Amino acid sequence: MSTLKINNLQVEIEGKKILKGVNLVVNSGEVHAIMGPNGTGKSTLASALMGHPKYEVTEGTAILDDENLLEMEVDERARSGLFLAMQYPAEVPGVTNSDFMRQALKAVSGKDVSLIDFIFKYEKNAEDLKMRKDLPHRYLNEGFSGGERKRNEILQLKTLKPKIAILDEIDSGLDVDALKIVGNNVNDMISPEFGCILITHYQRILDYIEPTHVHIMIDGKIVLTGGKELITKIDTNGYEWVKEELGIDF
Ligand code: ADP
Ligand code: MG
Ligand code: MG
Repeated sequence: MSTLKINNLQVEIEGKKILKGVNLVVNSGEVHAIMGPNGTGKSTLASALMGHPKYEVTEGTAILDDENLLEMEVDERARSGLFLAMQYPAEVPGVTNSDFMRQALKAVSGKDVSLIDFIFKYEKNAEDLKMRKDLPHRYLNEGFSGGERKRNEILQLKTLKPKIAILDEIDSGLDVDALKIVGNNVNDMISPEFGCILITHYQRILDYIEPTHVHIMIDGKIVLTGGKELITKIDTNGYEWVKEELGIDF
């Protein structure tokens, strides 16, 4: 079993404080949904944990299985078992999707990966995600539709098999069929060895990936934690009631 422990995490971007003390404990086997209005720091949390240089951690800790993530380089964080599916996956012209994936797998596992084994697994995963056949040979994310990029992030997830994954709005830009495929593929991964943080605005992805915990983030902090009942409440009432209930202004 793995545990990610985030304690009083405070993060600045270009001198502006975005995260104001985030506390969160995620065990493998668990699914933590983080919901919240736009611009409250959800993606900042994801980027800071992965070590994006623009995000300066000014206080707090993030520990994955007794290893201090904040002292690690980006590639070390990935090797330690953390994974981020990005809200806006970037294009990487000149690098084919399958080459990228094989290199990433080599880097993360620290082992040489035989081409035959790799292709076999890659094709199986691509098929599970009902991806187009030409995808492995195309440059990473180049000309991919929004939905194809999201599926490709999940293909990486299935290939790399991290301990804890942060999935940042993997539901945005997906039609209902794609949403179901992506949701079911992530859900199938949940095990005593794998847990995830699911950042989302919408209830619909949570129909396929059932959260064990639901957190509401407002203005750089997790202000409320509960179970699935929070999702319906947010879906029908937005976030205004949170403000009233907690007596906070944002
Ligand atoms: P969310 O994911 O909850 O919508 P973000 O974490 O993306 O919110 O953004 C939180 C705040 O930080 C916003 O005010 C946003 O404009 C700012 N921010 C995020 N990333 C950057 C960046 N790379 N440069 C400058 N400001 C940023
Ligand atoms: Mg957003
Ligand atoms: Mg975001």
